[in-house]
Amino acid sequence: MCGIYSPEMDVSRVMFFTLYALQHRGQEGAGISVANEQGLQTHTGLGLAANVFDEEALGALRGHAAIGHVRYSTTGSNMLQNAQPLCAEHSSGPIALGHNGNLVNAVELREQLAACGVQFAGTTDSEVIVKLIAARPEDDIVEAVAATMEQIRGAYSLVILTPDRLLAVRDPWGVRPLWIGRINAKDYLVASEDCAFAAVGATALREVEPGEIVTIDRDGMHSLQAVPLQRKAVCIFEFVYIARPDSHIYGRSVYMARRRMGNLLAQQAPADADVVIGVPLTGIPAGIGYAEVSKIPYGEGLIQNRYIFRTFIQPDQRMRELGVRMKLSPLREALRGRRVVVVDDSIVRGTSKRQLVPLLKDAGAREVHVRIASPPQRYPCFYGVDTCDRSQLIAARMSVPEIREHLGATSLEYLSLRNLVEAIGVSREHFCRACLDNRYPIEIPQDIRITKFDLE
Ligand code: SF4
Repeated sequence: MCGIYSPEMDVSRVMFFTLYALQHRGQEGAGISVANEQGLQTHTGLGLAANVFDEEALGALRGHAAIGHVRYSTTGSNMLQNAQPLCAEHSSGPIALGHNGNLVNAVELREQLAACGVQFAGTTDSEVIVKLIAARPEDDIVEAVAATMEQIRGAYSLVILTPDRLLAVRDPWGVRPLWIGRINAKDYLVASEDCAFAAVGATALREVEPGEIVTIDRDGMHSLQAVPLQRKAVCIFEFVYIARPDSHIYGRSVYMARRRMGNLLAQQAPADADVVIGVPLTGIPAGIGYAEVSKIPYGEGLIQNRYIFRTFIQPDQRMRELGVRMKLSPLREALRGRRVVVVDDSIVRGTSKRQLVPLLKDAGAREVHVRIASPPQRYPCFYGVDTCDRSQLIAARMSVPEIREHLGATSLEYLSLRNLVEAIGVSREHFCRACLDNRYPIEIPQDIRITKFDLE
């Protein structure tokens, strides 16, 4: 998710490059809205940014400001109507919105809006947000957004575009990251992660604060603490696998945190082995970190097909299984006859890990010691990560020894929560870690909670 305010630049092209840098956050749909003298213009489509936009589409999007979005579905199916930015008409004029996160009271709000005659084109909670803003009586869009923030609950980082303003908004817990950067003396960029700034020659200024609305217009940047800060609760899995390693959160390097996770994992769960390999791509920094402390040489044992995207965020189980087989290829020469430590970021359903161990053994590995750089995920996420319901989470159904057996691994160990937090170097109170310890920082309504807590 990203935005730009720059009367000088080719804003749609800058958004395209920024989306490219943020493609890891979602691959199901992409879109850009631009603001110009005619109002707002939007182009969306299904698939990767490079599939959705060609020269003609970008050339048609001219303006002085823009927002962009790549979609990763947590609510709503993968249909074109759910691709973002989503547009609506407020009394002050048109608005376009991009949303990262997940609301916990969207069903209730949707019913209230529908009862007032509001119609929905798609099935997402993001559409509920844009329709709520559009329905607000406040004439000023910033006031309308601030009032909407009082109504919605859950995880939301937003970019909102009007014909003359760009807004960057973060929920009062700050669950999903959102950055502001500067692209030259007077122009600003916003992006989910600061790794996107380097791609377009921008420099990071700061993160949007929880509960804050940052407005950018022809007079510069303005800040409003729209709703009081709750306890900060950044998703700890941004550090584990969601964010790109060259991004920063809380001023901490994601790459260095992952490497340190590997360091602490080696201390906590040593293995007698000949080589350490990291599962591409997110497991590699932790693998390097494990090798550093264990003094076991690090080697390349798995080659990734670069053109297959992350299996975890493929929308259904069949695609996930196909994706795993196409994604990784073992390097026989590095594995044959050796005792291997394989380090990965996490195990969610266990689908890919179940295929991984036989893959390594078939390639000649004598032993396969699996080391996971995060604790077992036993509880579902309601804040924007599609970690399925509890019945599908392997660690909710099986003990660690049972998972080891299920995977066929010689040994299996997970990083402890204490070591995960120490690796990042920020107090555990500043994170959402609910999928690990069942403590949800934003209360989940009971009717929503049971949808993902049924173990039958
Ligand atoms: Fe992140 Fe887990 Fe919290 Fe979801 S429940 S926001 S995945 S830490």
